[in-house]
Amino acid sequence: MTTTDSGKNWLTPLLATWRAQRAWILEQQVAIARTAAPTGNESERAARLQQDWRHCGHVVTRDGVGNVMTRVTPAMSVARPAPEPVVCLAHLDTVFHADEPLVVRRDGTRIYCPGIGDNGRGLAAMSVLARVLQQPAVRARLHRPIELVLTVGEEGEGNLRGATQWFDDAAARGLMPVAAVAIDGPGDCTIVHHAVGSRRWRITFTGVGGHSWANALTPNPVHAAGACIAAIARLADASRPLGVVAVTRMHGGEHLTGIPTQAWIDLDMRSRDPTRLRTMSDEVERIVMRAVRDASHQQPAQALQCTITTLGDRPAGMIDDQHPLVLAAASATRAVGREPQSASASTDANVPLSRGIPAIAIGAGGTGSAAHTANEWYDDTDGDIGLERAIRLVVALGTAERLAR
Ligand SMILES: [Zn+2]
Repeated sequence: MTTTDSGKNWLTPLLATWRAQRAWILEQQVAIARTAAPTGNESERAARLQQDWRHCGHVVTRDGVGNVMTRVTPAMSVARPAPEPVVCLAHLDTVFHADEPLVVRRDGTRIYCPGIGDNGRGLAAMSVLARVLQQPAVRARLHRPIELVLTVGEEGEGNLRGATQWFDDAAARGLMPVAAVAIDGPGDCTIVHHAVGSRRWRITFTGVGGHSWANALTPNPVHAAGACIAAIARLADASRPLGVVAVTRMHGGEHLTGIPTQAWIDLDMRSRDPTRLRTMSDEVERIVMRAVRDASHQQPAQALQCTITTLGDRPAGMIDDQHPLVLAAASATRAVGREPQSASASTDANVPLSRGIPAIAIGAGGTGSAAHTANEWYDDTDGDIGLERAIRLVVALGTAERLAR
């Protein structure tokens, strides 16, 4: 990556302004966290942020799935055809149900509230970015558009629905972003450039059932599920550390003295390598078929039925630590006095990475823990550092004369 402004001194006063706005930023973050946004029902929070962006002068649109979007264009006339944009994403949704009490409690420097960090922090940072990118000093230096996108359906069974839709629509318009940055949760040094892919399956075995003595040869779904679990445990040992497979839930049987009619197991498979994910899935399918055959062989007329239902499917992908986008993020990290750390995670960045678009995920400052639990907390002690890193990175990507894919 090369930059036009050798020194970034012009950015210094702008960053100082935002350091002085910490109380306001934190207020936004708390208000966002207190607006419920369960996966699949993000509209109230989306409307709030849409309003906020409109208030600072952006033209804001929503797409069919509910993503909130705006585009910041360079003030100067840019080369034709226009350079491909940089896209910044932050997810709107939380893992919490609509009836989860979103109560804020303070204890020392910690603020407790479900969703306060994940992704209250990332969304508050998007409010700041929307304002920073509107500044004439920034727009005058932009070499490419910056798309800001608040996504729905990132968490759990949302399956990255919002990000998937956005990149599908972009591809349909012939748009291939040059880089994507997901802003997710607290943090000021990690750079996620390995997207952990996952597949979550429910495997259901069904049979005719019967009396455990009188129908002793009737194929038993619980036996098939058990054989599967034992074989998957061996597969898990053989797959680590490149792939992880775990049976995470199981259920089966109806009566103490009856051969069950049904059993199911839930499976979580993960890897950073798409090929590994595929081979593990293929192996699990073979294990399932074998278990069904073995459990049914004495009574083939009553053979077990088996269905595999996909509960989740997140694509894997990666760029290496010498990729220009990772180097740009590392340089923004060092500029704020932190040491960059590589990380892998499952975020909105999975979608672009799986499609060959360079992407990373970063935090938006501060520290926190217990994400996805009612005890989630956030500490803003060094919150300005990570926020400054995010601003520096996005501005650097927008103003770089050339960005290598
Ligand atoms: Zn998140």
